[in-house]
Amino acid sequence: MTVSEQDVDTLAGQTWSEEDEAALLDSIDRWVEGEVRPIAREFDQADRYPEALVEQMKELGLFGATTGQAYGGLGLSAWTYARIVERIARAWMAPTGIFNSHLIMAACVERFGTEAQRETWLPRFASGELRGGLALTEPNAGTDLQGIRTVAVRDGDEYVINGTKTWISNGIHGSCFALLVKTDPEAEPRHRGMSLFIAEKGPGFTVGKKLKKLGYRSIDSAELVFEDYRIPADRLVGGSEGRGFQHAVGGLELGRINIAARGVGLARAALLDSVRYAQERKTFGKPIAKHQAIQLKLGDMATRVEAAALLTRQAATKYDAGERCDMEAGMAKLYASEAAVKNSLEALRIFGGYGYSVEFDVERYYRDSPLMCIGEGTNEIQRMIIARQLLERHPL
Ligand SMILES: Cc1cc2nc3c(=O)[nH]c(=O)nc-3n(C[C@H](O)[C@H](O)[C@H](O)COP(=O)(O)OP(=O)(O)OC[C@H]3O[C@@H](n4cnc5c(N)ncnc54)[C@H](O)[C@@H]3O)c2cc1C
Repeated sequence: MTVSEQDVDTLAGQTWSEEDEAALLDSIDRWVEGEVRPIAREFDQADRYPEALVEQMKELGLFGATTGQAYGGLGLSAWTYARIVERIARAWMAPTGIFNSHLIMAACVERFGTEAQRETWLPRFASGELRGGLALTEPNAGTDLQGIRTVAVRDGDEYVINGTKTWISNGIHGSCFALLVKTDPEAEPRHRGMSLFIAEKGPGFTVGKKLKKLGYRSIDSAELVFEDYRIPADRLVGGSEGRGFQHAVGGLELGRINIAARGVGLARAALLDSVRYAQERKTFGKPIAKHQAIQLKLGDMATRVEAAALLTRQAATKYDAGERCDMEAGMAKLYASEAAVKNSLEALRIFGGYGYSVEFDVERYYRDSPLMCIGEGTNEIQRMIIARQLLERHPL
């Protein structure tokens, strides 16, 4: 592998200075160019899981990127993390999904778990020994998470869980998930009856089916089935029932910053490919970049990239300062994901017929980018979150 793992080994366990961060980002750049970009097109088209990248991600420490150093993580700020995600997404967005929802699971345990849970689980998550993600969505409930039907019933020192989850990233290759259930299906308001468990695969916890997708290929999205799955009571995050909805939603701020960073990466990739192609492709005796109609597209695309990057930086900086940032993370996620969709479509137009060809990457950007508008709360919901916060911050 081309990345210098030594760089990362020497850096982990330190407080991150600007130089340390720059060295880490250099390592990521070398890894992306040496290992990720060269396989992206082939693996995406074959919908093949990038096993080798997972091992390299472990060496790079990515499975503990945002987890505290006391628990074996790199302890990176959200802003440094966002820059890592953007760099990978510029080459291939899908592999960022291998560690993103995994890190949100870890963040839930770190922020809301008991000290015993932090000590037990976080080092195993950070090393990549246990990998997984978030199991929230069900066939009947995605946006309306409080409508889930998976139920956990207490039985002595255990809970017995029954239900089905769907669209779960890392569902096949992962082994441990932050699992949202109802512990009191009759509770009103509904969120008071919800709890989050750290659920390892075992008897009663099986993978239903792998889901086929428009884009975001190579990464497993699967149905998870729970049939009389018994889980020790000490796996209940925080140790008390009824807080699961807050725990799950609390972890989504980091998730939204990650989606925003993925959007910036995709939008920038579409721009840079277009800038290059527009100078190579000639029509009517000159490069298409000399035609004003193409310049207008490039101008808009570049402006979107920079605006999306600035919003992402603003959200990450607030998150790092420990400030409330649901509005800022929502704005960054909303704008950057729409920028990725718009830029990838514009790139497709700039490439003309070749944009439609699988021999160029723009068709992949075009298939991958809409997911950014759906994941971690749809963009319709982001607009509502932004508006609510706005009204709360500016009461009459
Ligand atoms: C590739 C992929 C990976 C995923 N990975 C995961 C994962 O790892 N873990 C996980 O738990 N989930 C995952 N999901 C699920 C994802 O989070 C949900 O698809 C998403 O939350 C939307 O839920 P839904 O699909 O049920 O849509 P619905 O909730 O049915 O929404 C349908 C439409 O109605 C709109 N809508 C809904 N309610 C309102 C409202 N009140 N006001 C206005 N508009 C509204 C929505 O914005 C959307 O446009 C993944 C999905 C995909 C496609």
